[in-house]
Amino acid sequence: MAHKIDFVCVLKNGIHARPATSLEMVARQYASNISVVNRRNGRQANAKSVLSLVGADFKLNDPGVISVSGQDEAEAFRVLRQFIEQSFPYSDVELSPPEVVEPDVSRVPPMLARAGAALRIGAPLIAGIARGKIVLLEESVIPDEWLDPSRADPEGDKEKLGDAIGRTVRTLEDKGARTRAAEERSIIVSHLAIARDQDLKDRILEGVAKGQSLAQAILNASDYFQEILDRSTNSVLRERVVDLKDVCSLLLEEICGPAVHQQVQLREPSICVAEQLTPAQFLALDRDHLKGLVLHQAAQTSHTVILARSAGIPTVASLKDDPPIIRAGIDAILDAGVGVLVCEINPMVEHYYQREQQKVQAVAERRRCHQRQPGRTYDGRRVSILANIASVREAAEAMQRGAEGIGLFRTEMLFMHQDRPPGEAEQFEIYRQVAQLASPDPVTIRLLDGGGDKALTCLDLPQEENPFLGYRGVRLYRQFQSLIDDQMSAIVRASAFGKIKLLVPMVSHPGEIRWVLDRIKEIRRRLDREGIAYDRTMPVGIMIEVPSVVFIIDQLAELVDFFSIGTNDLVQYVMAVDRSNTRVKGHYSPYYPAVIRLLGQVLEEARRHRKPVSICGDLASSPQNIPLLVGLNTTEISVSSGDIPALKETLSRFDSVSCQDLVKQATQAADPQEVRSMIQQTPVAFTFPLLDETCIQLDVEVHSKEEAVKCLVDQLYLQDRTLDPQQLEQDIWQREFIHSTGLGHGIAFPHCRSQVIRSNSIGVLRLPQPIDWQALDGRPVDLAILLAIEDSDMDSSHMRIFSSLARSIMHKPFREKLRGAATAEQIIDYIQGALET
Ligand code: PEP
Ligand code: MG
Repeated sequence: MAHKIDFVCVLKNGIHARPATSLEMVARQYASNISVVNRRNGRQANAKSVLSLVGADFKLNDPGVISVSGQDEAEAFRVLRQFIEQSFPYSDVELSPPEVVEPDVSRVPPMLARAGAALRIGAPLIAGIARGKIVLLEESVIPDEWLDPSRADPEGDKEKLGDAIGRTVRTLEDKGARTRAAEERSIIVSHLAIARDQDLKDRILEGVAKGQSLAQAILNASDYFQEILDRSTNSVLRERVVDLKDVCSLLLEEICGPAVHQQVQLREPSICVAEQLTPAQFLALDRDHLKGLVLHQAAQTSHTVILARSAGIPTVASLKDDPPIIRAGIDAILDAGVGVLVCEINPMVEHYYQREQQKVQAVAERRRCHQRQPGRTYDGRRVSILANIASVREAAEAMQRGAEGIGLFRTEMLFMHQDRPPGEAEQFEIYRQVAQLASPDPVTIRLLDGGGDKALTCLDLPQEENPFLGYRGVRLYRQFQSLIDDQMSAIVRASAFGKIKLLVPMVSHPGEIRWVLDRIKEIRRRLDREGIAYDRTMPVGIMIEVPSVVFIIDQLAELVDFFSIGTNDLVQYVMAVDRSNTRVKGHYSPYYPAVIRLLGQVLEEARRHRKPVSICGDLASSPQNIPLLVGLNTTEISVSSGDIPALKETLSRFDSVSCQDLVKQATQAADPQEVRSMIQQTPVAFTFPLLDETCIQLDVEVHSKEEAVKCLVDQLYLQDRTLDPQQLEQDIWQREFIHSTGLGHGIAFPHCRSQVIRSNSIGVLRLPQPIDWQALDGRPVDLAILLAIEDSDMDSSHMRIFSSLARSIMHKPFREKLRGAATAEQIIDYIQGALET
């Protein structure tokens, strides 16, 4: 007789994908039949099918019953009852909504707006400039003959469907085994779950039994589940819709042949425009020709966007084509940093983007010389800059971007969204490749750091009330000993191929690390017996994330070879603030003097015990924190690889003495805001002079006031006087829109105070052809002088410099000298003279 469990759905949003997945994961461990009935609507679901469970349409307070019958029913009943009582109520942790950047007309740079080209504005998702032909990606169409009911053959179709599912599953499995990228693999796992879903198959067969052709039955089943998934406002569910469509088109392709798939072949540089794009459709596009993406519907966190980001494809979302101007085959430019698709490339647009391209290249070039150098402060202190990675590909990119090794390999990403954990051989191959890519530089591989906010479906971890204070990191290892043994063995074996260091997360007392060290010894003994080579000196270290270990660095130093500070977790535990709880996000800051003192203490204690320490949390990723890190005497940081060139450059701007002064003050500060402004005000090792040859541009051809302003601002950006040229331009135009700064006599004097300028700066632009500036005297302008003053400047430099120069400009001899100057140096001398009078 079937065992029954009565329950009431206590989940606010009902049983949608996430709770359904939790229930399905428990149910699928048993051979017994497990069904769930929603007593409100009488719908019955198979507990081993997520789609089916979602289809039962459980809402808050719906009564339900689970029935278990079969060979292992007693055990299944016991575990399911425990699950329903203890875990189910917590299986739907609320997701914070993804951050949305809305389309914003004011972002369009004035020079581009002036080009008057047809353009459309969207929300920037992945920055970058792309040029190519517009390709409209439409949904695939099934030829009518495949939908004709006369094709129905219930018995034959049942077999055909079984075969098609089998082939689809095998294709996906093969693809999964071949792919190394964690993101791609997680998508394949979602596809596999849907391809194997019993309810999807049953619904298709139901259609066939009713006389529908097999293709029609697949389409109907897809629509049926899509409607259910679409009803939810939950983004996780919407992700499933694209996955569902993908799997159904794979099945259709298996059944009807490639005719169904209107496979788009990109033959030239292309910008693809789609309502939405499934991950499989994205992966099918030729990456050599795919230059940009416009997706009308896409979230920052959608799988397709994650894939596009890792492929570096500029992407814009939420772009309204109203009235429609986007047509297939037209030449277009996608400026994804601004969120603009320019659909008409007139000469002015062409000219604008030539300038942009030159600027991007010049800054990359400027940073490239730092990228190749080891990280060093202005006064020569070494700070090694390594990379945080999650895959082999990221390791390769990081090394190209100048990483001095891999400081944190977050291996849990290899385990996420997987049906089963990766085996030893698979992991060994990944770690070996990373070690070889980085060699002779070191690679720090962190053991699995699951739990907390990192759900690992393959381990079936329990839902917890306080996951960050619960079952996470090293605390899982005893339960999953063989899995951790496999991982450690893969790491130890890979150590023969490079300079590997093994890092243990979330250690809170020495017992945990002793256990790990014992297991490593055991693994080494086995490898010795098997004659397998490994690095006998492979260092083993721990993450400093839990405050308890800060007080026993001396004891830990006897056990381990190095420390790595994870500021993301350390801050949350020191301040008792859940790092993912938006309600208390105002309390989460690394700038609290308590945190800074603690960091100083760890670094100092470790140094006393001659153990290297690195910092690998997010605190290290921002160039603005460099003075703080240098002042704390940090010698190694590890960051996302995209940040490395900018960090190395910033490092070279500061000297360690003023950074140490900063830290002394910061530990005494009243609050994080004070610390933040102290960091911002830490002087760079050299100040930019107000006037500098590099900011003087003589005889440059520009065609408009908008271009002139851009040209002046870009020059300051190229000289590293500002990190945000777009904002600086906006600051200038705020004034310029109200009053023209054309002072007359052919001279313009655009000026502003700005938070984004590093040092007070003057830029000069002399033009061979005068341009209109709507000047007071109506004369065109052939000389523009830009004045940008730091917002924090308190000694009224703005008005002083402005009035001295404005006065001099009124004098004809001064103007003639500027116009007649043969060199930038002469211009500087003349302006300097004017400022001194
Ligand atoms: C940290 O806590 O700072 C850290 C690097 O680990 P994760 O962000 O992966 O928890
Ligand atoms: Mg951590």
